[in-house]
Amino acid sequence: MLHCVMLLGVALASCASPPAGDGVRVAAFADHHVHAFNVGWWLLQDERKPAGYVNAGGAKSEAEVVARAASAAAAVSQAGQGSEAAWVTGFGWSQDGWGTPVLPTTDALSAALPDTPAAMARTDGHALWVNRAALVRAGLRAGLREVRSGVRSGVLLERAAEPVLAQIPAPADSDIVRAWRLGAEALAERGVMRAYDAGVLALPGIAALNTDFARFARLLGEADRAEPLPMQLFLMIPAPSPYAEQVLAMSLAERQLSPNVRVTHLKLFADGALGSRGAALSHPYADDPHTTGVLRMKAQEIADWTRRALDAGLDVATHAIGDVAVREALDAYEAVLKERPGLVPTRLRIEHFSYASDADMERAVRLGVALSVQSNFNTPRGVSPTFAEQRVGAEGAPRVYAWDRLARMGAVLVEGSDYFGAPGAALLGLYYGIVGVNAIGERGDSPEVRRELMRLNSRWLGAGGVFDSIWGAPGAAGGGVVLSGDPLTAPVESLTTVRVQRAAARKQ
Ligand SMILES: [Zn+2]
Repeated sequence: MLHCVMLLGVALASCASPPAGDGVRVAAFADHHVHAFNVGWWLLQDERKPAGYVNAGGAKSEAEVVARAASAAAAVSQAGQGSEAAWVTGFGWSQDGWGTPVLPTTDALSAALPDTPAAMARTDGHALWVNRAALVRAGLRAGLREVRSGVRSGVLLERAAEPVLAQIPAPADSDIVRAWRLGAEALAERGVMRAYDAGVLALPGIAALNTDFARFARLLGEADRAEPLPMQLFLMIPAPSPYAEQVLAMSLAERQLSPNVRVTHLKLFADGALGSRGAALSHPYADDPHTTGVLRMKAQEIADWTRRALDAGLDVATHAIGDVAVREALDAYEAVLKERPGLVPTRLRIEHFSYASDADMERAVRLGVALSVQSNFNTPRGVSPTFAEQRVGAEGAPRVYAWDRLARMGAVLVEGSDYFGAPGAALLGLYYGIVGVNAIGERGDSPEVRRELMRLNSRWLGAGGVFDSIWGAPGAAGGGVVLSGDPLTAPVESLTTVRVQRAAARKQ
């Protein structure tokens, strides 16, 4: 018999009770923001290592990634693939890992790959590094710097990448099905029992809206019916897009695509990402005074889509990272909440909420909208300068990823990983919540802080803006997960090595 401490109706890790064996049983985890398909897609690439694939992660210089791309191009031509199908695609580069704030250009990549088009996504998925052959294939003239907003000398930000992405050959049905399953299995193996797929990113990254999401969703539903997935997936549909229109017209029953797959949200994008300087700021970037980012959607457009979604019984999640994007999203949500006094505010989510003004932090708390945060974005304390300091300067840095402050203010926080490559350790969210700058561990590492973080990692904000307090609770039907170490007492450095010994069972 387990005796559990309950807080806000959610079973805590403190009710962990040693089951059979040495493991520690805790509630299963929720991931409110992950790109499950993309996770599976990159696992599939790493498994098969097809010609033309570049794993650009871990490189120490631009030249190193270019060299990897060159050998991938050589492999493509050796494999004798037709010139139409011959693309080099990759994922995982970051100029931060090269020790420079400067984004790469087409020059070195085009010199090494003069004929084969290449497109490689940055580690955040919001920037696509391309060579001239890719630009030409997409009808964009080489060297054209301002084709659409966000084009920066070989690195295409946000929607500027869509013409290139449209040229990359679409994956086969069987590969899409396999990628979904690999993604779901990888998450379930880490103890995640429910997750939101925050929009399939067009391959090999980039939150493009010209992806055939309907095809991805249909294949996922079919795969789950043929052989149940090990977890439940809730889909956010990027809008505006043709599929968003179809989903708006569907009934609630039709949106349950299969037993474990349901469409619940429209996903809007107010801006890009801080890493690639696409997040919309109210001031120039500290490490690039020539840009203030890319605002993709303003308040009125966000509000219009929000009304349409709510009228159709869908919830809304708006990606907003920079302080201008956060302001636009909150302006929209505030207007809609004012019009609809009975609306449950947690039906409205802001994804990331990374950098906000003091006034907007207070406004988000007052409105009661859900803030979907990623603890693993925080830079560990002691690392200087922090990522936040690099992008927004020392003055703004305390308002970046300020989860501790928001938690103390009473914000509705839900946790997600934002993985779209290979997922990290099961307790990575807990780890960064403790060691991260501005994270909840700023209060000091204690069992209370860890309990709060475990609660954040284990509670589920469901469709309709309702928190689910039953699933995955230890001893409850469906069970929790069994860990190899105790998340409340293990030394902080060892948290990333704690494994899931027995994954969550699905709730029947
Ligand atoms: Zn995301």
